[in-house]
Amino acid sequence: MEEVRCYIPKTLKEALEIKAKNDVMVLAGGSDLMVSHKRTLGLTPVFEKPVMIIRNLEELKQIKINDKGECCIGAACTAAQIAESTICPWHLRQAASRMGAVGLRNSATIAGNIANASPKGDTPGPLYLLDARVKLQSASGEREELVSDFIVKFREIDLRPDELITEIIIPLSEDDFDYIFWHKVGTRKANAISKITLSQAIRFEKDKETVRDFRLSATSTGAKTNRSRDVESILIGRKITDEIIEEVIAAFDKVISPRAMPEFRREATRRMIRRFLTEAAKHPENKVIDTYDGYYMPGAPKPRE
Ligand SMILES: Cc1cc2nc3c(=O)[nH]c(=O)nc-3n(C[C@H](O)[C@H](O)[C@H](O)COP(=O)(O)OP(=O)(O)OC[C@H]3O[C@@H](n4cnc5c(N)ncnc54)[C@H](O)[C@@H]3O)c2cc1C
Repeated sequence: MEEVRCYIPKTLKEALEIKAKNDVMVLAGGSDLMVSHKRTLGLTPVFEKPVMIIRNLEELKQIKINDKGECCIGAACTAAQIAESTICPWHLRQAASRMGAVGLRNSATIAGNIANASPKGDTPGPLYLLDARVKLQSASGEREELVSDFIVKFREIDLRPDELITEIIIPLSEDDFDYIFWHKVGTRKANAISKITLSQAIRFEKDKETVRDFRLSATSTGAKTNRSRDVESILIGRKITDEIIEEVIAAFDKVISPRAMPEFRREATRRMIRRFLTEAAKHPENKVIDTYDGYYMPGAPKPRE
């Protein structure tokens, strides 16, 4: 049997010291790494470097609200933990609650979902939408960066060799918007990798007509999650009309670049944008516009009252 060299730090400080002195591969839930390093049935995975397991570090497993009212999620929090936490923003809880199956959600961590830099990852969509930041710590200091900048491109992140992602900080939630939307198109309603997932949110001025803020992000539509402030600003300060909706749709169509099944992905994106904005302009009572064509999945997180 092959030997796997392994560090299991007991504290974050110890983990950062190990990272500072050694070239290690960080393993959190292991749901990506165990698959990418798997071998024939019965053989243990082979890792090219020693592995450092961080999944049990208590400092990385907390979800709290900081003194600025931002939601701070420890890097090793699992999808299940996030889906069940009422202090996590609705869009993120939706995404976490539809990742894989129960077993996967109990091991997959939020930092792993960001660090694998997959355009199909479920959590980056909401994190881009809500201007989330990653906190990066090393033995010598810490810094923060927007998730949308931290994910540089397909499979590439802005992580220095001695750093760990320790926290995800989310300044906004559904409370900052009048209407919200999240829809994952997959081959099944759950336990399916995203074909395309759209997150949207809108806020009106006091007149309930003029758009104060609009946000739109899409996964599985290019080399990384797509969001464009230029496209969103088409709506800001204006009233929603059919013409403006088509303007937004046409502009976002230029931002996305789906490779497989491009026309399906483009058309699904157009329809979801059109649906959200058309419905929001009617000011329905329900803050959530569209969840599985009106079918609210049992157990799916609801927005805060
Ligand atoms: C059957 C199956 C179904 C899946 N379904 C989905 C799905 O529906 N939606 C979805 O989005 N994903 C899905 N995935 C992919 C995977 O589960 C997720 O990307 C998951 O969030 C990865 O997290 P992890 O903790 O398991 O990562 P790991 O495998 O432990 O690590 C992944 C990467 O992140 C790095 N990393 C982890 N934590 C840190 C940290 N704190 N600091 C720095 N780097 C870190 C690791 O070094 C590694 O490069 C699925 C995977 C499988 C096997």
